[in-house]
Amino acid sequence: MIYFKACPRCRGDIQLQNDGTGDALHCLQCGYERAVAPHLLAKAREMQRAKAA
Ligand SMILES: [Zn+2]
Repeated sequence: MIYFKACPRCRGDIQLQNDGTGDALHCLQCGYERAVAPHLLAKAREMQRAKAA
């Protein structure tokens, strides 16, 4: 899954990856990386749904 323009550093596109130990966000443009807590991930998905509706 990709979150467009979601990078806090460069406003680039963030890809959600799972490295086996957990989910992580990875910016396609600048390489910004961040681990994601499961509850934050659920919240992000909620927000995506709200935007789509
Ligand atoms: Zn970035």
